[in-house]
Amino acid sequence: MSRKVESIAYGREKIVFDVLHVKRKTLEISVHPDKSVVVKAPPGSDSEEVIRRVQRRAGWIHRQILYFEQFEPRTPPRRHVSGESHLYLGRKYRLKIKKSQIRQVSLKNGYLYIQSPTSSPNHVQTLLEEWYLRKASICFHAVFHLCWEQFKKNDVAMPDLKIRKMKTRWGSLSTGGRLTLNLDLIKAPKGCIEYVVIHEFCHLFYRNHDADFYRLLHRSLPDWVQRKHKLETALV
Ligand SMILES: [Zn+2]
Repeated sequence: MSRKVESIAYGREKIVFDVLHVKRKTLEISVHPDKSVVVKAPPGSDSEEVIRRVQRRAGWIHRQILYFEQFEPRTPPRRHVSGESHLYLGRKYRLKIKKSQIRQVSLKNGYLYIQSPTSSPNHVQTLLEEWYLRKASICFHAVFHLCWEQFKKNDVAMPDLKIRKMKTRWGSLSTGGRLTLNLDLIKAPKGCIEYVVIHEFCHLFYRNHDADFYRLLHRSLPDWVQRKHKLETALV
């Protein structure tokens, strides 16, 4: 098996792809969740012809890459000091750290107040993460059950809900019927959380993102495209 890196221009973007020569009769182009593009070509394929074929499918490849990009949480790193902004349900709050004997996190007038005996960034971060988890647990369960009220008419068993930090996805659905939501979604607007939940509910019927899947998604949430777009830009 031989491997070669090639690239084509698509508008102002550059699409880089690996060409693998493997024993097969037809050419196959695939885009993976890490956004890598792999072209499997029969042995001895003409490399210009391979590039032409990739060029013809550039629009599709680009759409796949954008699709996987939406699942990359992109919140920039925070230092956990006063004055810094932090997101909660799509709104920015300024962090204000106050020395106090009690430990408390609260929202007031656009500020995210953290009261704590120490202002060490590590400690502030821990308090804040615990607060996000408590808020996410309440909010995600509420959204989940509200969306389920709409969705259950499709006559399918309700999945379990789990919340955890995920590096590359906003949500996922296991074959055992467990829906996992990324904790970081608590930073996005509620409409985006609803979109991720409904998207995963649709996977109860269709595992893959095929036409049937999108038909059901569209029927369940007609403005899903706008919500998805919002999610892609909300956490930058
Ligand atoms: Zn999906």
